[in-house]
Amino acid sequence: MPESRNAGLFARAQRSIPGGVNSPVRAFRAVGGTPRFIERAEGAYLWDADGKRYIDYIGSWGPMILGHGHPAVLEAVHKAVADGLSFGAPTEREIELAETILQLVPSAEQVRLVSSGTEAAMSALRLARGATGRSKIVKFEGCYHGHADALLVKAGSGLATFGHPTSAGVPPEVVRDTLVLPYNDVAALETTFDLHGPGIACVMIEPIAGNMNFVRAGVPFMQRLRELCTRHGALLVFDEVMTGFRVALGGAQSLYAAAIPGFAPDLSVFGKVIGGGMPLAAFAGPRSVMEQLAPLGPVYQAGTLSGNPVATACGLATLREIRKPGFFDALARTTRTLTDGLLCAAHEAGVPMAGDCEGGMFGFFFAAKLPHDYPGVMATDQQRFNRFFHAMLDHGIYLAPALYEAGFVSAAHTPADLEATLGAARAAREA
Ligand SMILES: *Cc1c(COP(=O)(O)O)cnc(C)c1O
Repeated sequence: MPESRNAGLFARAQRSIPGGVNSPVRAFRAVGGTPRFIERAEGAYLWDADGKRYIDYIGSWGPMILGHGHPAVLEAVHKAVADGLSFGAPTEREIELAETILQLVPSAEQVRLVSSGTEAAMSALRLARGATGRSKIVKFEGCYHGHADALLVKAGSGLATFGHPTSAGVPPEVVRDTLVLPYNDVAALETTFDLHGPGIACVMIEPIAGNMNFVRAGVPFMQRLRELCTRHGALLVFDEVMTGFRVALGGAQSLYAAAIPGFAPDLSVFGKVIGGGMPLAAFAGPRSVMEQLAPLGPVYQAGTLSGNPVATACGLATLREIRKPGFFDALARTTRTLTDGLLCAAHEAGVPMAGDCEGGMFGFFFAAKLPHDYPGVMATDQQRFNRFFHAMLDHGIYLAPALYEAGFVSAAHTPADLEATLGAARAAREA
């Protein structure tokens, strides 16, 4: 067998970059094997350093909702590049992007642009604390909100206990005010508000938790969460970095608003799709809260490259495409066909599998039924997932290399791509 360029690059990368990667999940540690070094992408496809083509269901972890190299996006970016890479001064395009986001997200009256989801979640957290004058925050086990210190916390041992740092380098004092609760657990929520209500600045949640594959917050749970936040004066922060402009044009909040009369989060955090593949993220909310930010208010927040002209051009062009009539209906149909097809292939092979999807995001588990919290996800069959992942990869299907990750479909995935994917899935069963 000829020496693989992927393997050579990975060996070389590990000498100059810790673990050979600039973000840990890329290293394939969960599934084993050699990560693929990608040389280029087009439409629904990626090509690795060995020239092998893959059908891409990661989509840069969500942003590439139009597929790779969409002509309208490339044109907007090329034009923006020619006009200048960064000015450190306001531009009209930032207003256009802000206005577009506010049109699509009725819960928000103002928005601030930043460069990563981590930065957006961290800033929203500071804003929530500054606006309420409170310190405690609530998050849920299995939800990821980027790697700001206060949010890198795993669950404590008992109900409504404070969490422990998940990472070395985060002092216990820094997460002293972070409460970690089980996802979808109404009783834990009620106990926590009983015990700590007046001190809680905000509750941050992934409304569809894509960082434990695909787990929805139940509607009754979300309704109770909204009621408790309102009653106790805590802000409800929707981390829609993954779900925003991905599960629906109005994000996951539009789905809960359809199910719960009058529902809206207080603050929303966006990333991924709004940058269309460039570093761009945002947090948004009511004017009264957002105006607490510098330069108007006492909550400091800033960024050298925030609202970068090339990134905003890319994001705007992406949002322009996904707003076109019928875009989400078609995307949702594609995702549904894929998800149902995977379940059907598993069923035919007698393999227990459960799956779910919304808009352009999907998840599947090797388990008889869908888990509804983190321990449930942990209890699904990891070995089987890893075997399936590698069988699919060998067949040129690029799934997320960990069972804790959601999958993403783009508008570029064709019926033939889905057929090839499902054919690989059926073959993987026999392997
Ligand atoms: C990806 C993600 C983040 C972090 O965004 P980065 O751009 O990677 O910093 C935060 N929250 C959620 C829900 C995410 O999926």
